[in-house]
Amino acid sequence: MREIGHFIGGRAVAGESGRFADVFNPALGEVSGRVALASPAEVDRAVEAAAAAWPAWAATPPLRRARVMFRFKELLERDRKELAQIITAEHGKVLSDAEGEVQRGLEVVEFACGIPHLLKGEYTEAVGTGIDAWSMRQPLGVVAGITPFNFPVMVPLWMIPVALACGNCFILKPSEKDPSASLRMADLLAEAGLPAGVFSVVQGGREAVERILEHPGIEAVSFVGSTAIAETVYRGGTAHGKRVQALGGAKNHLVVMPDANLDDAVDALMGSAYGSAGERCMAVSVAVAVGGVADRLVEKLEPRVRALKIGPGTDPEAEMGPLVTGEHRDKVSNYVGIGEREGAKLIVDGRRLSLQGYEKGFFTGGTLFDHVRTDMRIYREEIFGPVLSVVRTPDLGGAVGMINEHAYGNGVAIFTTDGGAAQDFARRIEVGMVGVNVPIPVPMAFHSFGGWKQSLFGDHHIHGSEGVRFYTRYKAITQRWPAGARKGPEFVMPTLGR
Ligand code: NAD
Repeated sequence: MREIGHFIGGRAVAGESGRFADVFNPALGEVSGRVALASPAEVDRAVEAAAAAWPAWAATPPLRRARVMFRFKELLERDRKELAQIITAEHGKVLSDAEGEVQRGLEVVEFACGIPHLLKGEYTEAVGTGIDAWSMRQPLGVVAGITPFNFPVMVPLWMIPVALACGNCFILKPSEKDPSASLRMADLLAEAGLPAGVFSVVQGGREAVERILEHPGIEAVSFVGSTAIAETVYRGGTAHGKRVQALGGAKNHLVVMPDANLDDAVDALMGSAYGSAGERCMAVSVAVAVGGVADRLVEKLEPRVRALKIGPGTDPEAEMGPLVTGEHRDKVSNYVGIGEREGAKLIVDGRRLSLQGYEKGFFTGGTLFDHVRTDMRIYREEIFGPVLSVVRTPDLGGAVGMINEHAYGNGVAIFTTDGGAAQDFARRIEVGMVGVNVPIPVPMAFHSFGGWKQSLFGDHHIHGSEGVRFYTRYKAITQRWPAGARKGPEFVMPTLGR
């Protein structure tokens, strides 16, 4: 049995806790390895290694840190296909999608290559007579990232390059469902010249996370995952005095206006609802049909959902792979049953799909519901599978109201040919990332990613300039080099006077 361990102090180390979790090949439905679950003592060892490496790394000029990132970028490009294969083997998504994930992560590395410029402070000459002032941003120390199963390369790369380039040491606690990609990234960072201890991987689950949250040597925690755990991590981390950004779950709407190009909207819905089997935090799971467009929309969607090409992620023809685990597939199927019982109209039922040669795989077909109401659980809760709900509303105001009342506020899109409607929508909508005729508006690396409401706990979005702010502390310096006669003590608040 393949054993997946940790990476601490610059080398791979086996787990010592004696506890493991099964890792599956989702297409085959078979156990492909077992991942070590770290004990608190193993987390402590990673923090010790990071704390020992930190002073030298923080003192390394930003340009040198950037050069490590340049090399890391080249290595990610060199091994892009291999990384995609590792993702597909444990997550299940199709290879082309896995390569896209590597690319989006790599773009954050490209952003971090500009760190000397990003860390430049501001300078004011003569804030007083003979006094200059400037500001700088300094690294925090040892920081940690806790990441979900659905993007085992991209989400860690939302954090790692920015944190490291800012001069921090980073400990990654990846998802125990697809842990192998994290170790490959650790190897590549070492090959890029990152000193030992600056980056570590600690595999594990709840116990490891709890130790990270309470460890006095960890200054900040970035978390991406489901809302319940995001809130727990935010509360736990901040209660221990840490800076925390915790990105949670989502329920993303795509509004189809009566004037929209319907074929474009249908293409957008197919890719964003069923791509990666709906296991994306930016997946669209609700189509909001405005002003009588619903019947035509459903008519066009139904045959497309039935015709989805589903297969193992390694099949170049497949548009959608399996779900990550059997347990998750059962959860998604259960939601389809809930929707039926709640009275939604089941147009396409994806349950009970069986693929020849892959009978044990965690596959499910695409599901389409019509006449979904906002009081239904299938509307309110995140299903995180290939299930699309169509909700009807008479006008744009109804769409905005329903979206603003939803607990989640990660991503949203509007499809329309009316610029005024799009502008009004973008201004009024209470969601962190908005697409106009763009179905999955994931911001590029040089902007920042994050939702509102139950989709994000904390003050900062992730990567881009928000990431630089999150991983640094601001310092303001005021300086005088006295010349001439001594003035003696002054007991009033210093002011410039008139
Ligand atoms: P999850 O919340 O189950 O797990 C996320 C991380 O938390 C993992 O590393 C896991 O080991 C750890 N964890 C799980 N249970 C824990 C517990 N009880 N205590 C402490 N740590 C625990 O999420 P997941 O199923 O891996 O990922 C899917 C979820 O992530 C979805 O809700 C999705 O919307 C969300 N997600 C959000 C974003 C975003 O940017 N907002 C991006 C990707 C995924």
